Amino acid sequence: MVQPDGKVIPDVIEYANIRGCQKVVLIIVDSLGYSLYRYFSEIGDTFQNIRKLAGSGMVLRCQSTADHTTPAIASIFTGYYPTKHHIYATDDIYRERAKDPANPKIQTILEWAHDAGRRSAVVIESHGADTFLDRVSEVFGIPDSQDIIEYDSKITDAAVQALESKPDILAVHLRAIDRYAHRAQTWDELRYAAGMVDENIGRIAMAAEKGTLFMICGDHPIHAGEKWMRSASKTWVEECQGQLVALIISMP
Ligand SMILES: [Zn+2]
Repeated sequence: MVQPDGKVIPDVIEYANIRGCQKVVLIIVDSLGYSLYRYFSEIGDTFQNIRKLAGSGMVLRCQSTADHTTPAIASIFTGYYPTKHHIYATDDIYRERAKDPANPKIQTILEWAHDAGRRSAVVIESHGADTFLDRVSEVFGIPDSQDIIEYDSKITDAAVQALESKPDILAVHLRAIDRYAHRAQTWDELRYAAGMVDENIGRIAMAAEKGTLFMICGDHPIHAGEKWMRSASKTWVEECQGQLVALIISMP
């Protein structure tokens, strides 16, 4: 890769090397801010699968590069800040490619892997998936839906199917927490969405081969801040303001 803005985290490399990492599954959990991660993993069983993964691995506090999905995920995929990749909406990818087809700042880790002869697969919403067509080994697009629980379930089915062809790197985007953060009014509803995300991660973890490193991360902290912040602690509010998200690294 061309040197990106993102820096290699030596602890992650060491963890992966010691355990003989062969493959990577990257799961982006929309709106998994660091405070939200802590809340659901410390109290109750909402995050039982995530907690198990974190227990045998490590959890890092990371600063998101943007406060909404597309530029933040573009940074996760490319390693560049939004001011460098210029992807604020999905169609921006086509515009940036038209300007300079070889621009390394819009080339994703999945494409770098593919070009290096690795198998890479991606499971995301259909419109975003189209941007990967003919650029990675396997592309699974799931149409957006009003029923985000069903949508995430289809994403998970496709991820499990993608793992059957044994990709070296698989990227998946789960969206239920983000949708519920926008539309729900109660913590019980948000907990339900978080529990479903956890269940889906459990299904993907079960389907992965031995030697697979899981990287589970938020793209930005929860939206609709004020609604959820009313009863939040000072630390929580500060973590949201600091755009802190959770990154869980684990090889189960
Ligand atoms: Zn998002």
